[in-house]
Amino acid sequence: MSAVETIHVDGVWRAAASGAQREVLDPADAKTLAVVAEGGAEDTDAAIAAARRAFDSGPWPHTPVAERAALLRRVADLLQRDREEIALLESRDTGKTLEEGRVDVDDVTNAFRYFADLVTGESPGRVVDAGSPDVHSVVVHEPVGVCAMITPWNYPLLQASWKVAPALAAGNTFVIKPSEVTPLSTVHMVKLLVEAGLPNGVANLVTGAGDPVGARLSEHPDVDLVSFTGGLISGTKVAQAAAPSVKKVALELGGKNPNVVFADACATDEGFDTAVDQALNAAFIHSGQVCSAGARLIIEESVRERFVAELVRRAEKIKLGRGTEDGVECGPLVSAQQLAKTQAYVASALEEGAVLRTGGKQPEPSDVRPATGYFYLPTVLDQCHREMRVVREETFGPILSVETFSTEDEAVTLANDTEYGLAGAVWSSDTARARRVAARLRHGTVWINDFHPYLPQAEWGGFGKSGVGRELGPAGLDEYRETKHVYENLRPSPVRWFGG
Ligand code: NAD
Repeated sequence: MSAVETIHVDGVWRAAASGAQREVLDPADAKTLAVVAEGGAEDTDAAIAAARRAFDSGPWPHTPVAERAALLRRVADLLQRDREEIALLESRDTGKTLEEGRVDVDDVTNAFRYFADLVTGESPGRVVDAGSPDVHSVVVHEPVGVCAMITPWNYPLLQASWKVAPALAAGNTFVIKPSEVTPLSTVHMVKLLVEAGLPNGVANLVTGAGDPVGARLSEHPDVDLVSFTGGLISGTKVAQAAAPSVKKVALELGGKNPNVVFADACATDEGFDTAVDQALNAAFIHSGQVCSAGARLIIEESVRERFVAELVRRAEKIKLGRGTEDGVECGPLVSAQQLAKTQAYVASALEEGAVLRTGGKQPEPSDVRPATGYFYLPTVLDQCHREMRVVREETFGPILSVETFSTEDEAVTLANDTEYGLAGAVWSSDTARARRVAARLRHGTVWINDFHPYLPQAEWGGFGKSGVGRELGPAGLDEYRETKHVYENLRPSPVRWFGG
């Protein structure tokens, strides 16, 4: 495979039919990291046709579940074999730290193992009591067919695995399109699927832009399901393009996630330190480029000043730099576009009356922070309110807005006042209150006295405009399956509905 042969169709690595290429940039210095094939509609159609053939007449959909699970486990082992190589690739492509890259590889490995275990542990069907000894009625699951997968740049390998592992476990074939900004780890993953022995045509990959590649995948009549992770605007386009062919659509979109802190959580020094530390992590890990980032701190007024002062002190100590450098805690933003977006959100917040407590600009260049890199300081904006754009819209950058409340009802109202509903947290030493508030939050994941952990066994997804459907957990497998009821009459006889 040469540098530009990053399109994989029917078991063959190839360049784009048009010969077009794209440079992938290292966000730490804006230099070229790799050159990949820039696929187009022709490449996409060829990949869909290969996946269609592999589904309609290939062995994979009928391969015994135990064999499919064994392949997933081999992939998990190969991911661990290549852990350092993939972590480095992901770090250089996205800007995240090497350690974050390693955590991602481990999480991806767990996802493959989880779905292998889930399918092997299942019974082959659910027998239904039809009310007659002469009827055998069973509900079974079957693969959906050809799946299109479209993924974002912030967790390229992780988001791909949450689709690829359940889709393969269920017996589907697929075409994946990674973000054009960060395609490298997905190319590596497909190589590992091939090495693990997946039959030709089951896993196809097209590197290229959202339009035409993602758009073509979404509209194509031979695609049975499109699973998309990304922003609200692109997700809406995917749903619109998919509608005429009435394919299944799964959307994992953005979030504007509240982190609600009650004063009682800060009553002890230990509690205060933990809540501040986790608020910092919630907002600034991966420079805030996380769909579930705790970008809205909603804090009880009586502890606001002490809490924000400590948060600012800690934020100013975060070591920004190239993700592969030792000691660096936070990398650059992924692209010039993402940097410009962050700058624009801070400017609009200041115009609307927010108070800048720290950050609000790019850091000085240093030996670990090239001047051409897309670095931005962790930024805390105080005195924010619900009408501000920075509070309402997903900034996807290192920006934390601070709002305050005085009563429990007010905290819940603020936390739910978003068109999104992906994730949120509540901090309180009063267990009854924490659970009461958690029950009222309209978000797909709610953390009590924690932020960010997720489990492959537990569904992930959003309320409201954070999406449609779920990934991970049993529901994450069911996204990739059709449900079929087989009703067998053991003693057929005439119905005699019609007299003649
Ligand atoms: P994006 O919407 O710009 O792009 C996502 C993917 O969609 C890319 O592969 C892109 O090429 C493709 N795309 C763009 N236009 C398209 C079109 N018209 N048709 C089909 N595909 C198209 O998002 P991004 O900037 O790459 O990622 C950031 C977004 O992803 C944020 O909003 C974040 O919240 C979201 N995200 C959500 C989750 C989740 O689990 N809910 C996880 C990670 C990221």
